[in-house]
Amino acid sequence: MWLFVDSHPYAPSDLHSIGIRRLTGALQFSKLKLNGFKSFVDPTDLVIADGLTGVVGPNGCGKSNLLEALRWVMGETRAKAMRGGGMEDVIFAGTASRPARNFAEVVLTIDNTDRLAPPGFNDQDTLEIVRRITRDAGSAYKANGKDVRAKDVQMLFADASTGAHSPALVRQGQISELINAKPKNRRRVLEEAAGISGLYQRRHEAELKLKGTEANLARVEDVIEQLASQLAQLARQARQAARYRTIGDDLRKAEGLLLYRRWKEADEAQAKTQAELTDRTKLAAQAEGGGTNLDQNPRSGRGEIATPA
Ligand code: ATP
Repeated sequence: MWLFVDSHPYAPSDLHSIGIRRLTGALQFSKLKLNGFKSFVDPTDLVIADGLTGVVGPNGCGKSNLLEALRWVMGETRAKAMRGGGMEDVIFAGTASRPARNFAEVVLTIDNTDRLAPPGFNDQDTLEIVRRITRDAGSAYKANGKDVRAKDVQMLFADASTGAHSPALVRQGQISELINAKPKNRRRVLEEAAGISGLYQRRHEAELKLKGTEANLARVEDVIEQLASQLAQLARQARQAARYRTIGDDLRKAEGLLLYRRWKEADEAQAKTQAELTDRTKLAAQAEGGGTNLDQNPRSGRGEIATPA
């Protein structure tokens, strides 16, 4: 654990101070570099040496801004904790003699020779975390030159039992607040000292994931319900289609039989008519052949053609 205390109530009224204490067995912050952050318009290095580092200065010289820069580079997301209305308020806003800047950058250098950094960030002697905010573009983070997500940086510090919300960052008036704090808040200090803050952060993440999964599950159940009703409808339609096909087949067969029967009847009628025609043609031929004997018809006596029986 390390300690950053902004404690002007205990200093002489016109010269206040902040103190940074490096403690053994914890991540060793060695330098804080500010560029365009709040009142630090020009690149400024705050070197954090072994033991206690103090910053002494008059009211409004920017001591609290240093504490805020440290919170900010560790992934602070609340503009209010930066004493601003929006996160871009941390960018140097300009003065009568200097124009406003378009970006702010804070670099935190960590001495990692003891390899105390969490896994994934522990392969080099120095770990450098950079956060940069650009107007209208938001924040971007880098760890040892590589682009990383805000969440990765927050997890890094949580795993090292520190971070933007760490009780080791003591802002003005916070000591008295701590003395009067609720047990839950005091417990956070003890948990950080025990090095289990990272577990809480991970638990929080796991709970968020669980909630997300539960929401997805509810959505999947809705979709399954919807699909089940669609399935029932499709099954009904499939049954109707099968019936339609069977009835269609029967209809085609019946039509075929009907046409066959009509054809058969027509064929028989044609055969019959054909036979009749043949008979009559024969008779006509016979009648024509017998025309010369008209007067010899014994029954008519008047020369009529004899009709066949
Ligand atoms: P105190 O001892 O009274 O707490 P301090 O040394 O902590 O004072 P800070 O509160 O850190 O001082 O700094 C306040 C100064 O930072 C003010 O002068 C304010 O104008 C300046 N400041 C804050 N935000 C910006 C910004 N975005 N651009 C320019 N200056 C800023």
